[in-house]
Amino acid sequence: MPRDATTLTADFLREHARSPAQDFLKDALARAGRVAMVSSFGADSAVLLHMIAQTDRALPVLFIDTLALFPETVTYQKTLAAHLGLRNVQTITPDRGELFARDPDGLLHRADTESCCQLRKAEPLARALAGYDGWITGRKRYQAATRADLDRAEVEPDTGRIRLNPLADWNAAQIRAYLDAHDLPRHPLVARGYPSIGCQPCTTRVLSGEDPRAGRWRGAEKTECGIHFIGGVPTRTRKEDAA
Ligand code: SF4
Repeated sequence: MPRDATTLTADFLREHARSPAQDFLKDALARAGRVAMVSSFGADSAVLLHMIAQTDRALPVLFIDTLALFPETVTYQKTLAAHLGLRNVQTITPDRGELFARDPDGLLHRADTESCCQLRKAEPLARALAGYDGWITGRKRYQAATRADLDRAEVEPDTGRIRLNPLADWNAAQIRAYLDAHDLPRHPLVARGYPSIGCQPCTTRVLSGEDPRAGRWRGAEKTECGIHFIGGVPTRTRKEDAA
């Protein structure tokens, strides 16, 4: 673990109050110890992955393949990683024994999305992050009211692990502009009506005027559909706050 994580994040926030995301990222990678990026290789992922490639192509990039992704996402992961020259993408999958025991027919998502996300996302991510001092996420404040106060750097209270959010203050227009400026490959499903892309069984097209995340877990009656890590513990979050 690097020197006190809380002090380190406070330093980051003070020194980078207004600096470009790339500068923040570079400094954070230099000081935060063992850090991995966690990426879904979704609609916006190319922005942060491009910044990583400009800084350290050997940085571990953890790609969680729930084994329920769109085939387009799996292909896009390979295409984008090759395009950017990323040399250390690690595909994280659910434990086969646990899958067989808890979701033998692959239909758990129909009965219990939270248990399914726990099995296919949260537990594999927890195992993968065990050896790291911190991780980088692509979360942004504009995505949800629950992220309105998101800092660029934060500490998970239980693990002491640093969580870095270089794009916290970016908006959708900045994302589009960056993708255009660097001519980055787009996830093919975006052009087909999927502005937010998760697992195939739980993602539908979004109609004009709908929230970009409306296609995630569409039709679910409960308000808590995703699982996100807070303090190293898999914690249920509201639909609009799910990763
Ligand atoms: S998004 Fe759906 S299929 Fe994917 S892990 Fe969660 S419940 Fe399962």
